[in-house]
Amino acid sequence: MNVPFFNAGESNARYADELKAAAARVIDSGWYILGEEVAAFEQEFAAYCGVRHAVGVGNGLDALSLILRGYKELGALREGDEIIVPGNTFIASFLAITENRLVPVPVEPDAATFNIDPVRLNEAIGPRTRAIMAVHLYGQLADMPVLASVAKQHGLLLIEDAAQAHGARRDGRKAGAFGDAAGFSFFPTKNLGALGDAGAVVTDDAALAAQVAALRNYGSDVKYHHPFRGVNSRLDEMQAAMLRVKLKYLDEDVQRRRQVARRYRDAIRQPDILLPAVAHEEQHAWHLFVVRSGHRDALQQHLQGCGIQSQVHYPVPPHRQPAYAMLQGAHLPLTDRLHREVLSLPMGPTLPGDAVEQVIQACQAFGCSP
Ligand SMILES: *Cc1c(COP(=O)(O)O)cnc(C)c1O
Repeated sequence: MNVPFFNAGESNARYADELKAAAARVIDSGWYILGEEVAAFEQEFAAYCGVRHAVGVGNGLDALSLILRGYKELGALREGDEIIVPGNTFIASFLAITENRLVPVPVEPDAATFNIDPVRLNEAIGPRTRAIMAVHLYGQLADMPVLASVAKQHGLLLIEDAAQAHGARRDGRKAGAFGDAAGFSFFPTKNLGALGDAGAVVTDDAALAAQVAALRNYGSDVKYHHPFRGVNSRLDEMQAAMLRVKLKYLDEDVQRRRQVARRYRDAIRQPDILLPAVAHEEQHAWHLFVVRSGHRDALQQHLQGCGIQSQVHYPVPPHRQPAYAMLQGAHLPLTDRLHREVLSLPMGPTLPGDAVEQVIQACQAFGCSP
């Protein structure tokens, strides 16, 4: 049997009737931008995250970018300020920073959790540091209590890139509720995926929420009045309606991902494959199940030969991208190494049990074949 990496169509097919009813509701309403669906989703998603405000935006990159832009408008950030960011992350975390003429300061991860290393974080703080952008990579929460105390001690903003962590939680708090503000992506493959591009900013800060709400809509607070030079990055009614259906099933889906992860972690015993370390089950929403191997490319080929699709998240770290030539001097050996060794195994709420067993068997057979 062929095992796909992730099947968004199959995942959505479970709710096809509800999604189609919601789509029909939007079509028949005749109102497609900033209406009742967006307002309702914003309330429901804020309640889910356990925060006061959610503001729907066009995508996850814009969510992160508009948080930073919002803090600039509010006077908390200025052009040229330094933002600490993990070196091993998806490039969007960096783009949000540089888009706002802020300076990314990449910090090495902890090798076990893939998330920012709190010790190295302390070393990176300088006189121009104004914020920490924590990324809950692969769905595992960064060490938020430690990051929060560092941020507090140095008077820094703490922002969460929660694009991979919908549903991760710690001590009753959910991803998105730990920092001053958080950006979510609802790209179709994320734990909570729309049927197109979508994103949201969540925060307890009423001033930031109002600022982002204006910035996403041409910088307008009152129609045709523009205190800010904003952008057009609105969550639309159709995607909000889709998300309202899928939000109801998010916890169930995350639970299914945890079951797949638990089975992988119990059964894969292979000296050439390093399993992901987990601080606590609840803290991981398993957006991706990422193993490490010194023979990553061979492992990927071997899996391919067994009919199993895997992916690399990510092959090239931001500081090695041509777009960030100015960061090429950054010394991030662990980040470089992880990008050579990581491989994401099939993962998702609809991955059948026999597919999981096929992946396990293929991993067990790796290196044993002639
Ligand atoms: C997906 C993702 C983003 C960007 O989200 P988009 O909706 O694709 O713009 C940002 N950060 C991380 C870590 C992501 O995985």
